Amino acid sequence: MGIVSFEVIYRGVFQRQLAQKISRTMILAAVKEGKHGVSFGRYSDSPERNGIPAKQFGYITDTPEELEEIAAQYEPKQVDVSICADDTLTQGLESWAWTGLQPLNAVTKPGGTLIMTSNNPSEALVKQMHRRDTPYKLSILKGGASFAGLFVYKDDGTDARCLGATLKACPEICSMASLEAAIRENVGGDHHVEAARASFEDARSDEVKAGEGNTEVPFTFELLGWDSMRPGVVIDAVGGHNGYGDSKDGYVPGRNPYFKKWSTRSMRPVLQFDKCTKCTLCWVACPDSAFDVTPDGYFDPNMEACIGCGVCEAICPVPECLQMAYETAFEDRDSQYQMWTSDKDAFGKYVEDKLSAGKVENRHPITGLAGAFSGLGLEGGHNDKTFSTKSLKEL
Ligand code: SF4
Ligand code: SF4
Repeated sequence: MGIVSFEVIYRGVFQRQLAQKISRTMILAAVKEGKHGVSFGRYSDSPERNGIPAKQFGYITDTPEELEEIAAQYEPKQVDVSICADDTLTQGLESWAWTGLQPLNAVTKPGGTLIMTSNNPSEALVKQMHRRDTPYKLSILKGGASFAGLFVYKDDGTDARCLGATLKACPEICSMASLEAAIRENVGGDHHVEAARASFEDARSDEVKAGEGNTEVPFTFELLGWDSMRPGVVIDAVGGHNGYGDSKDGYVPGRNPYFKKWSTRSMRPVLQFDKCTKCTLCWVACPDSAFDVTPDGYFDPNMEACIGCGVCEAICPVPECLQMAYETAFEDRDSQYQMWTSDKDAFGKYVEDKLSAGKVENRHPITGLAGAFSGLGLEGGHNDKTFSTKSLKEL
């Protein structure tokens, strides 16, 4: 068989149990056939923070010596299969250590498979993923982002479906019988086994050719050397105030230039400035000081600073003035205020398009918040379907 490696890309805390179930169960299945394996989390993703992109990895080998050798590296530089149960990560991910933006497909081997849960077609996802100079396969499992792991593990079958699709991508790992036995031991009963089997049978993959995808150069910066670090662990979220400056320029809060929150966000606010009463509530309530104040007193959500929490939408008193839309609807991080002032009609169309493509419909029944707090298996989202083979086939 040689060495098989995989990664599970997930959002910290919300999807941790989901990622662990997938990773550990795959190893357990291989071990049942006399193979050797290890499942482990990325060192720099611990302690995790809510929603921050994180990774679990797994190695499977024929011999203990091979495992010892491969596991000595910090984390895999290439994997046979990448698994991601949140398609709002298509534009890349930063770990909590903020070392820049890593493309989602960065470590998928040439010819390897990226498995993703999504309700979007592969062309739409490929358009958002960074292009690379080697081909890979994209296998889509129908369904939205799974937040099965928040508060309690309200299982929606994503674990079993990802396992079935992984085995399809790498059938040398083990037999379906061993995977089923591991699922019964570590995940669940008949429904899960059926879900994995259906996923194995139905999984299809599209080839993503070399050169296809988003042409953006991923954001990087020079990391500090050991001799230039400050004492202790310091990550500046907000680097002091820039001051009001010239009143013509409005007001931009001080920000850490490396602390971008692009992939931390699974949704973003869309603001219709012509409805805004300049009441200041969004600006005051935003926990990340993400609004720039414009010279004429509007509040422009800055897409480098917004974490996508939805607080501003919840607090805005004007109907439809400030609404959240899923990140998958966007290919830009431009200033909405600048778009609006330069062409109001074009911005109106932009708002309409983005809201129809990415409108966040569901709200948490208690907090009223959306996005990461919705679709938890509590109400709304695809998780509200009773987990059964029938509903999985419908997905
Ligand atoms: S979504 Fe959250 S972080 Fe982003 S602008 Fe609104 S309140 Fe601020
Ligand atoms: S809360 Fe709404 S109305 Fe008030 S300033 Fe913000 S966007 Fe405008």
